[in-house]
Amino acid sequence: MSVLESIKDKIESSKSILIMTHVNPDGDAMSSSLGLLAALKKIGKSAYVYIPAPNKMFSYLPGYSEIITEIQNAKDYDLCIALDSSDLERLGTGREYFEAIESTIVIDHHITNQNFGDINYLNAVASSTCENMIVVLAAMNIAINKEIAECLYSGILTDTGAFRYNVQPETFEFAAMLMETGVETTKIYRRLFDETTLNKTKLLARALERLEIFEDGKVSVTYITEGDLAELGLEENDSEGIVNFGRNIEGTEVSVFIKEREDKYKISLRANDYVDVSIIASKFAGGGHVRAAGFESVMTMEQIKIAVLEEVRKQLK
Ligand code: 5GP
Ligand code: MN
Repeated sequence: MSVLESIKDKIESSKSILIMTHVNPDGDAMSSSLGLLAALKKIGKSAYVYIPAPNKMFSYLPGYSEIITEIQNAKDYDLCIALDSSDLERLGTGREYFEAIESTIVIDHHITNQNFGDINYLNAVASSTCENMIVVLAAMNIAINKEIAECLYSGILTDTGAFRYNVQPETFEFAAMLMETGVETTKIYRRLFDETTLNKTKLLARALERLEIFEDGKVSVTYITEGDLAELGLEENDSEGIVNFGRNIEGTEVSVFIKEREDKYKISLRANDYVDVSIIASKFAGGGHVRAAGFESVMTMEQIKIAVLEEVRKQLK
């Protein structure tokens, strides 16, 4: 049986399905979870999305208000589906439940995926988990309606940086197919990419003010602190996208963005043309894609800068 057939079988024979995704869920994580939820409900399945801290930016998606933020008993579910997550660690508090539930499926597009499910549908060529979800739903003969499409389009849009990266011919074909259902693409783009708030703009200003350049301008590094977020009344997700400003500077190959958290740092890495940042992130027990990856670290900010620069240097031309 093919992986897709096994997934179809497993979902059809399950009674209660729990969908989960990675910590600090981004657009693809939120959208693939809610898209799958809408699809499973459409075929009459009892399904739930567990996300302890949902990303509010995606509150317009159908099913958002039904997200459960706590699990009473993992035994209430006989199938767990983990989305957009490359390893168990990425599931955060969900890991415990994933491990306790009888059957598991992993659907993802990270090249660093560890195959941690009973059944794994992994296609790293796909722009996003949402793109892979379209293939899974097709294999299950679930027709995509506007609700499902709104979710999946949002995930493709965010994970491709609005069709800038990881775009394959199929990405446009899938997007066209989703648009046919009536998805309001202009409205979604404005909401996810253009609209901001005064305080988010101020946070960006702080990060840009601190930006440093290394290696003859090939590497840019900046950071934000917990104090920045507290003073501006923002959450960690509100810094999404800042890393791109560093990579847009002429001559830059790698952009490093460091976020201070309570007990550790979260590092985002982006490359433009040739550096494989997934290799660098893996060196620090993180992961991701060739041109977009990340990791967490308990080193000091200064140590992180030195260690990352050393790894980047190995790949610079
Ligand atoms: P971001 O910088 O936007 O948080 O993440 C960029 C990419 O790297 C995403 O695809 C994300 O899944 C991956 N990534 C970020 N942080 C981590 C991490 O700590 N561990 C792993 N395995 N992947 C990460
Ligand atoms: Mn993704």
